[in-house]
Amino acid sequence: MDCIFCKIVKGEIPSKKVFENDNVLAFHDIQPLAPSHVLVIPKKHIASMNEAEEEDKELLGEVLLTAKKVANELGIADGGYRLINNVGSDGGQVVYHIHVHVIGGEKLGGLNV
Ligand code: C5P
Repeated sequence: MDCIFCKIVKGEIPSKKVFENDNVLAFHDIQPLAPSHVLVIPKKHIASMNEAEEEDKELLGEVLLTAKKVANELGIADGGYRLINNVGSDGGQVVYHIHVHVIGGEKLGGLNV
């Protein structure tokens, strides 16, 4: 499958890893939008939240808890941070392998929902 994040999981494309276990991988975004910007992905290929199934419930929970762990390790948890999951074209999704952006390290502006 021609998925860039699957290639990162397999080590075919290099990444700056922050955390890895059998199920998930966290790595620094190559185009950071803030002082800290890490992506957390499941190793299993799920294209987007639109394709997530009931059976992915535990795995997606692990992705979120990994995002929290990453925020702690980056030292941005106390100040606060944002978790973002873009879905589809209108949602601004560019890479179709589900991922959560962990963004922080400064006061964040932009869309506050
Ligand atoms: O949510 P969205 O699909 O727009 O985000 C994809 C993200 O993946 C971008 O922030 C981009 O910088 C990042 N990326 C990366 N390493 C790659 C390709 C994309 O960190 N090799």
